[in-house]
Amino acid sequence: MLLLERFSYCTCMGEDKILHVKTQIVNRKDKEDFRKPVLLPSNYEVVLKLIEYCHKKNLHCGLQIFQNILRENFWILNGRKIIRKVISKCAICKRFSSKRLEVDSGSLPENRVRDSAVFQITGVDAAGLLFLKVNQKARVLLFTCAVYRVVHLELITSLSTEAFLIGFRRFVAKRGRCSTIYCDNRTNFVGTVNAIDWKFNWPTTASWRGWWERLIQIMKDLLKRVLGQAQLLFEEMLTILCDCEVLINSRPLTYMSESKHLVPISPSFLQDIKEWRNRI
Ligand SMILES: [Zn+2]
Repeated sequence: MLLLERFSYCTCMGEDKILHVKTQIVNRKDKEDFRKPVLLPSNYEVVLKLIEYCHKKNLHCGLQIFQNILRENFWILNGRKIIRKVISKCAICKRFSSKRLEVDSGSLPENRVRDSAVFQITGVDAAGLLFLKVNQKARVLLFTCAVYRVVHLELITSLSTEAFLIGFRRFVAKRGRCSTIYCDNRTNFVGTVNAIDWKFNWPTTASWRGWWERLIQIMKDLLKRVLGQAQLLFEEMLTILCDCEVLINSRPLTYMSESKHLVPISPSFLQDIKEWRNRI
């Protein structure tokens, strides 16, 4: 009786001699347990076992869904808290909802932090297979500066060494010669060893490519949204790539402050410096 006064529930004794809660939907034509769920205390072992049993039976579903399912038959006092307690002890749920072990990122290698000209140290990778008009296929060469994270995109028609060299020549003509290039151990890249210091990543060291894989993903996401199912001519695709390049280079590299006086720095600041120097 004390219990009922404290929670001020409107209850009634059912034919089964168990206390039921009178809900507001008591006049609805539905099953008895739904209209008048069984009132249960939360601090009894048998109730905990019942919650545990229902949790397993309902495929270890989340708190909200599970509470809703239980509510169809039982009205557990302080239910949310006690259900959370039971779920938190479930070994299977613990395993799947546990956070990944986060490892502190190591310090960057010297070539990522040293003073250098733009694109002096570059990472290169070939991305995607694009289907153009007249059954032409193309790939994108993504060059990224290891220090300033500027991106340069070139369109090539195949993965052969010759096609790569054509794209690479265009890149060098526009951005200048690099001293060091990081790339995958692909045959088209391996075939181009010359005066430049080429550093080939081992096939198993995917983490080494982290600094350009994310940029490739940004480019792919942009292209997916812009192109959809459209097939373009080579020149049209080249133009779209130039737009992508400008967009990727305008991404903020630093924290975006709420203050209107602080503008986040982006790789395109290099272009601003160039223009500023030209004006002097
Ligand atoms: Zn579970």
